[in-house]
Amino acid sequence: MTIDTRADAATGAVATDQLVEDTDALNLPPGASTGRTGALRRLIGYVTARGSRVRLTISLALRAIAVVGLALLPLLSGDAIDAVASRDAGRLDHVVLVMAISIVVTGAASLIAERVTAVLSTAAVKRLQDDAFGSLQDVSMSYYSTHPPGDLVSRLSNDVEAIASWFQDALGPILRAGFQIVLFIGIMLLVDWRLTVVALLIVPLYLWGSSGIQRSAAPAYRELQETVGDLSAYHEETLDGHKVIIAHGRADWAVAANTERANRTYRVGRRAWLTSLSQVPLTTAATTLQSALVLAIGSIWVIAGDTTIGTLVAFVGYVSLLAGPMSDVAKLTSSTLNAGAAGRRVFEVIDARPTVVDAPDAVDYRFDGGHVVFERVDFSYRGPGHPLQLTDLSFDVLPGQKIGICGPSGAGKSTIINVLTRYYDIVGGRILLDGQDLGTLRQRSLRERIGMVPQEAFLFSASVMDNLRYARRDATVDEAVAAARNANCHDWIQRLPQGYDTVLTERGANLSQGQRQMLTIARAMVADPDILILDEATSNVDTRNERLINQAVSRLLAGRTSFVIAHRLSTIMDADRILVLDMGRLVESGSHDDLMARGGVYRRLFMSQFRNSAR
Ligand code: ATP
Repeated sequence: MTIDTRADAATGAVATDQLVEDTDALNLPPGASTGRTGALRRLIGYVTARGSRVRLTISLALRAIAVVGLALLPLLSGDAIDAVASRDAGRLDHVVLVMAISIVVTGAASLIAERVTAVLSTAAVKRLQDDAFGSLQDVSMSYYSTHPPGDLVSRLSNDVEAIASWFQDALGPILRAGFQIVLFIGIMLLVDWRLTVVALLIVPLYLWGSSGIQRSAAPAYRELQETVGDLSAYHEETLDGHKVIIAHGRADWAVAANTERANRTYRVGRRAWLTSLSQVPLTTAATTLQSALVLAIGSIWVIAGDTTIGTLVAFVGYVSLLAGPMSDVAKLTSSTLNAGAAGRRVFEVIDARPTVVDAPDAVDYRFDGGHVVFERVDFSYRGPGHPLQLTDLSFDVLPGQKIGICGPSGAGKSTIINVLTRYYDIVGGRILLDGQDLGTLRQRSLRERIGMVPQEAFLFSASVMDNLRYARRDATVDEAVAAARNANCHDWIQRLPQGYDTVLTERGANLSQGQRQMLTIARAMVADPDILILDEATSNVDTRNERLINQAVSRLLAGRTSFVIAHRLSTIMDADRILVLDMGRLVESGSHDDLMARGGVYRRLFMSQFRNSAR
């Protein structure tokens, strides 16, 4: 089933088809429905999805029964009055019985239809959320650098919530109104087709007014969802950075910035709401005009003897019945516009496609010691033809070697790791892993072999044991405990309230920084990767922890090809080779002693750090 947008507009709902916007302008992938009509249609598609069709058919059938039952009541009342007038008790009994049955059936059918629609809506929202979340797991790393987490969270929560309320509050009434309008117009045609034409004369004018209102309200609703998203993103960021805010005494500023955003949301919301609100008076005016027109022209025809007064009275009754569903749907304009705007934002997430994709003939990486070769590698975060962040980079790492990577901030150290793990595709040259071109390998097989200990020790709000086994779910408890011992974590984990079962708060906030770092090292040990990347992160921990962490790191690196991004050069002095980068180019390479003897960039960096730590 699809929503007939034209019919909706005729009933006071959203004249969505006039509001289609150009998807190309937003530079989204083909098939992405960014227009509001497209978004609403796709949302309805979630309700009518294959698994829901039986329920949907039941719901529609029950609604049809309820509407017919309701439409019978005026006729039955007329019959009852006739029976009373003719003092026909038998007929009256019969009519009252039919009325009673009709009322019970109508009530029961409406109730069950509402419940079935509620189930359909809930299932649709779940599917939508699953699709959006699933899409975020598939996109490439570059997506996250252009979409802040707060914005994405808002799309998954605020926008989905707006859609859920539309499903819950509007879907049932819109379906019911659709049936009622079709039925009432059908009856009106049977009663007097000429008066029906008169009654519908107003429709083109109404559609025109209606679409004008929606044309001006739709952008406001889009802006509203964006400002709501911006506000949530701001909340997320400030809650995340609350320590920095407090430390710098910027709480007042944070509150003021929040108020400014909240005021903007209020202003945009008010504008959106007030604009769409005009739909209700427009509908009232249209239905009143409709009745007046029917009465005026009908009266002339009665006087001329073209129709009877009885027909006219019955007809006017149906015209006023028609006003009910029309105004019901008009009242839903605001939530429909909101759902359309929210749908667009959610579908932008669902339609996001990974930029790094496996080749159709990609094969699994076959590990053979961990020999890594960079051959004249060029890379730009923005793709080919843009300024390079890595230029003509070549080096050769033998199996089991420890490679230190250093250089000034922004030199390209993390970027080397981003291309080695194939979070981004290079734009020139080749990267070979054990003789296999990285571009020909399945990403999943790479990720299984290449482990990473990031600079920021990220832990999940789960038990210590679950965090340890995060990268390898089949690891045994004994293996996890052995890794924890190796990484110098076991003793302090045992002292936690529930030992290995202690549940960490979000990001492991109930652990010290050093403990978090050691736990991520233990986690990497459990994962047992063949090639390891370590973003050195001991700069903020005390000397005792630093010693324990360095010891854990040495155990972790032993026997594996490893890359250590060094912020403090002391941690890579023992590396087999040190790559010194500057502005994306390899400027020096060799052992610590070689590089010190050369007296170049490395020596200068080392001496400056040495002087700073001696101060
Ligand atoms: P640091 O020691 O400060 O972490 P780094 O040597 O690791 O620095 P990179 O993070 O590799 O430096 O950055 C190299 C260059 O690439 C910088 O100019 C940076 O601005 C740019 N860059 C890094 N990440 C992105 C990104 N996601 N999108 C666009 N440019 C980026």
